Amino acid sequence: MCGIVGYIGRRDAAPLIVEGLKKLEYRGYDSFGVATVEEDITLAKHQGRISENAGSAAHLKGKTGIGHTRWATHGVPSDKNAHPHTDCNNTIALVHNGIIENYSQLRRQLEGRGHTFRSETDTEVIVHLVEEEYAVKKDLLAAVQATTPKLKGSFAILVIAAGEERIIAARNASPLVLGIGDGEIFVASDMTPMLEYTERAIFLEDGDVVSLTRDTADIFNKGVQVTRPVELIDWSVEDVKKGGFPHYMLKEIFEQPLAFYNTISAINPDSLKKIIGSPDSITIVACGSSYHTGLIFKYLLEATCGIPARLEFASEFRYYPPPVSGLVIGIT
Ligand code: GLU
Repeated sequence: MCGIVGYIGRRDAAPLIVEGLKKLEYRGYDSFGVATVEEDITLAKHQGRISENAGSAAHLKGKTGIGHTRWATHGVPSDKNAHPHTDCNNTIALVHNGIIENYSQLRRQLEGRGHTFRSETDTEVIVHLVEEEYAVKKDLLAAVQATTPKLKGSFAILVIAAGEERIIAARNASPLVLGIGDGEIFVASDMTPMLEYTERAIFLEDGDVVSLTRDTADIFNKGVQVTRPVELIDWSVEDVKKGGFPHYMLKEIFEQPLAFYNTISAINPDSLKKIIGSPDSITIVACGSSYHTGLIFKYLLEATCGIPARLEFASEFRYYPPPVSGLVIGIT
């Protein structure tokens, strides 16, 4: 996994983004990058760890910016494959978490129309598609709204453009959350980069495209403006810091008994039965740690509800769904 952080407000964006990316380090990554915008786009990206050497990334000027830690899926970890990626004229910059499954077809089409690619990533097709739409529509929000339906796969993206004091964000099957401050807005893969600055969060949903200024977050889904609830997040900063452990992973391992106990003891078998209803069977779909959670959940469901439950790997289910009936529960 990897991380995204964006900031728009009255403070310098780059140092906040760099600190935010460091807080997402627990997700694992191989390279990082930041882009900010004043009149022009400025950008710094490098292979390696941001905690060891953020280099020029922390010193970029501008009150609006986007940053990324990459876990390479398409193209080796390298400076040129690190995000942000830019369009042919370096006037649009974009970061992306996820995988664009139809990227090779889109890349061939874009190259055929004269676009020059500088990386091996699937991501770069997105910024060239935005470039084309922006040239016609002259509006960054409209350009991103016209681009996302062309993408197959998973994405959380942030986009900035020269001369524009805003960030456009969009998501499909990759997480993205807004942190609403006073005269400033954060946007990130999870709450950790923004906990110090605000408690007010908006969790975006699949299909959402958002236009952010420092005071406003206009959210659209399928072209229609929508509202999403502002949730108060009462996590302490300490909750997400390393808690004295040298690594987040070690901290999480030691937290497991308590987390497990709290979770299991919070379950009321009667209300679980009510939520589950009476399907003939239950299929749980999950991957990695979620798969192991699913194993426990299967026992709990069968014991509590008396309904047969089976577990499928999400990575297989995605491409080869078995016949299912009854209730399907996805864990992520
Ligand atoms: N697929 C993109 C890449 O390889 C994004 C990977 C990520 O989510 O970090 O650059």
